[in-house]
Amino acid sequence: MDEADITADRLEREMERLLAVRRASGPQPTGECLWCGEPVAGHLRWCSVECRDDWEGEHARQTRR
Ligand SMILES: [Zn+2]
Repeated sequence: MDEADITADRLEREMERLLAVRRASGPQPTGECLWCGEPVAGHLRWCSVECRDDWEGEHARQTRR
């Protein structure tokens, strides 16, 4: 495994960690990205941090008084 592989592996794990947080609230995982519909691993709700942030931004706007 060269350094690029190690970095990609680390980023992937970091992304999973970021996506796993804040799981306590909001919709359940559906196997698809809640924002763009990409298939994702069962315990995830978004395919990327960007999708999560976009979804959360939209969600926050909808629920704001
Ligand atoms: Zn997505």
